[in-house]
Amino acid sequence: MMKKTDLVIVGGGIFGCAIAYYFSKNNPGKQVMLLERNELNNAATSRAAALMTMVRSKRSYIPLTIETFKVAKEMEEELGETLDFKVVGMMHVAASEAKVKDLEVLMDIAKEYDQEAYYINKEEAKVKAPWLEVEEALKIGFVPNEAYCDPYMLGTFFARCARNRGVKIHQGVEVVGLIQETGTVKGVKTTDGDILAETVVDAAGVWAPLLAGQVGAGLPMAPVRSQYWITERSDLFPINSPMVLLPDAQAYARPEGGGLLFGIREGKSLVASPKDVPKDITDFVFSADEGMDDLFENGERLARFFPAFYDMGIKYYVAGFSGYTPDSHLVLGAVPGIKGFLVASGCCGAGISVAGGVGLGIAEMAAGRPNPLDYSEFEISRFGSIDPFGEEWLHKCAAARSNKVSG
Ligand SMILES: Cc1cc2nc3c(=O)[nH]c(=O)nc-3n(C[C@H](O)[C@H](O)[C@H](O)COP(=O)(O)OP(=O)(O)OC[C@H]3O[C@@H](n4cnc5c(N)ncnc54)[C@H](O)[C@@H]3O)c2cc1C
Repeated sequence: MMKKTDLVIVGGGIFGCAIAYYFSKNNPGKQVMLLERNELNNAATSRAAALMTMVRSKRSYIPLTIETFKVAKEMEEELGETLDFKVVGMMHVAASEAKVKDLEVLMDIAKEYDQEAYYINKEEAKVKAPWLEVEEALKIGFVPNEAYCDPYMLGTFFARCARNRGVKIHQGVEVVGLIQETGTVKGVKTTDGDILAETVVDAAGVWAPLLAGQVGAGLPMAPVRSQYWITERSDLFPINSPMVLLPDAQAYARPEGGGLLFGIREGKSLVASPKDVPKDITDFVFSADEGMDDLFENGERLARFFPAFYDMGIKYYVAGFSGYTPDSHLVLGAVPGIKGFLVASGCCGAGISVAGGVGLGIAEMAAGRPNPLDYSEFEISRFGSIDPFGEEWLHKCAAARSNKVSG
């Protein structure tokens, strides 16, 4: 007898787990299977720096992130445990006229979404972040309710609450193909047999284009490396000091265990075809020298704001792939002309912060109801027909990350 279910979710990262949570919560009695070929939340999700930035220039992301904060509280209540979000606030340092203009727009956006935000002076900034040199700053904005989190724990909370509602989570099971019939996806072929489903969601992270390719869809995204470093401990980095965005340096930083976690955009980001990313991400060598070359090539920009940079020992290096798109928008929703198939991917390095909104919207679409969130900027077909495995496309997506100025 072939297995049957209402919803199959391919991929047990934070997107897959969040979708399983919302669908099971809002559709009692329906059956859900979540299939993960390795272990839950162990690819991009566990590697994230996990800035949960709410106030950002891309308005379309904001309601999705607000949803994440809301659902996090609900899950804490349900499980009687804390996610321990670090609500340390975000400092935005503008050191050029162009970035001052961007910051002024950002402060207006904060108001629009009812988020507290105000300017602080250089002395206040220095007290909040003793490692920071603000001499060059022209304006400094502060958003006190911004937070970072433990991304693995957040993903795991979604999975645990989904399991509490009957979602069947299978780890070590790989989806190897789709079962299709004239424009309709009817289920999946797996390493543990075939499963029929009303709806299949492709939440396979940077591997999502491989599955979508089977229905003839070229997902407009590519795996692009994100990397960050964590310094040794120092009194310069109080554990409750805020996150800092330095758009003039294309860098971000936040405290981590008594040290400083920071990232700097490289001039040229490393990109790979989804076909070349190993099934187990731990098999991929992101940098032979733990990013040291990139650090020295780009570190000068950061040293302007972090004078102790060259004296600090680096304790940890973390790298992973995120699915980037040329316009830095997500890739969410239905594939035009295909029934029974939805995509939740193209996270653009913001998947932890938007996970709540991705889970809610995709789960409602999977249930056949209208999406309560606006996904119009995330449509899969917005670039027309593209080849997600072609060299030209891969480099377009990598350029989107190199030009990024936010965290
Ligand atoms: C270094 C780094 C820093 C980051 N910093 C931040 C940050 O500060 N803030 C933020 O919001 N985001 C950040 N991100 C991005 C964030 O980690 C991702 O957006 C998020 O984890 C994406 O989740 P996902 O579920 O789409 O993918 P993943 O977590 O990669 O999960 C996809 C899963 O699908 C599984 N899978 C794939 N194919 C199959 C198949 N055929 N069958 C079964 N299973 C399959 C994989 O094994 C994997 O477990 C960062 C990412 C990196 C790498």
